[in-house]
Amino acid sequence: MAELRRDPLTRMWVVVTTDHPKGPSDYLPFKPPYQLQDAEGACPFCPGNESMTPEEIFSTQEEGKGWSVRVIPNKYPFFRIEGEFDRRPDGMYDVMEAIGAHEIVVEAPEHHQNLAFMEPSQIRRVLLAYQERLIDLEKDRRFIQFLILKNYPGLFNRHPHSHIIAMPVIPRRIDEEILGILDYYQRKERCIFCDILREEMSGRKRIIIETGHFLIFSPFASRYPFETWIVPKKHRPDFHPLHEDEAEDLSIAIQSLFLKFYKLLSNPPYSLTFHTSPVQERFHRPEYHWHIETRLRIGLREGFEWGTGFFVNPTPPEDAAAFLRKMESD
Ligand SMILES: [Zn+2]
Ligand SMILES: [Zn+2]
Ligand SMILES: [Zn+2]
Repeated sequence: MAELRRDPLTRMWVVVTTDHPKGPSDYLPFKPPYQLQDAEGACPFCPGNESMTPEEIFSTQEEGKGWSVRVIPNKYPFFRIEGEFDRRPDGMYDVMEAIGAHEIVVEAPEHHQNLAFMEPSQIRRVLLAYQERLIDLEKDRRFIQFLILKNYPGLFNRHPHSHIIAMPVIPRRIDEEILGILDYYQRKERCIFCDILREEMSGRKRIIIETGHFLIFSPFASRYPFETWIVPKKHRPDFHPLHEDEAEDLSIAIQSLFLKFYKLLSNPPYSLTFHTSPVQERFHRPEYHWHIETRLRIGLREGFEWGTGFFVNPTPPEDAAAFLRKMESD
């Protein structure tokens, strides 16, 4: 048997298979094991090799130790900052210069550092770099959407880093979320994310970690095995005005979540993204509720998804959350 679950946000159907569920241990061990193999000597993100990168945009410094987090332009960006902003027709199609900014945040000086073992104070510095860059990039009125993305391990460099991308358009996933949020508001006059938080906190079946300011859980219509959302309890459309106590709380939560992934799922590859409201007055959505989504890059059935737009998830989110709640005492 399989269960069709509808994501209340995007109204997308997900097939959750429950008859032969893939338990967490069915994914282990990952083959090949994800090991850090590349050479430190040639790494442009390592201290001492700063001249190998384009000029630094931002950094945090530690007394007597040099930089602790460093932001640089991406050498091979999807979006470029120079250019004319114009949408032009090409027959019936819309075309636009890929104007934007694409920056790399080097999350730590140590080449083999990992979110699972990073000091929360270091994660806090990474969050601070994101905040500072978003505040600065927002001044450029051509940019209406920011995305923060991280792939682990990195595709081209294993040194821990993430991407900040500023775009002149709203990407489809955010657009779908906005439509879902507005539709729900119209019907219920409430925020769907605030309602999801209330629902998850009362049922508690899918919660992995709860802190003072954040709820970390497996979403009801998880598209991927171990899909995990980190949602702030306080309704706010944008990530970058994050308050100090929330940022501290979030740093600890992120470290504990990725330590769980590392230990319980033996260091899986993952992607992480921050979803935040479009910026600039005419696109900003006060109804939006910012959040972080993570997915493990395992066990996908890309072909079926590609063909139908349906996601098939062989690991019910309740099982995933119960498995990840373990390790309370470590
Ligand atoms: Zn390095
Ligand atoms: Zn909300
Ligand atoms: Zn989202």
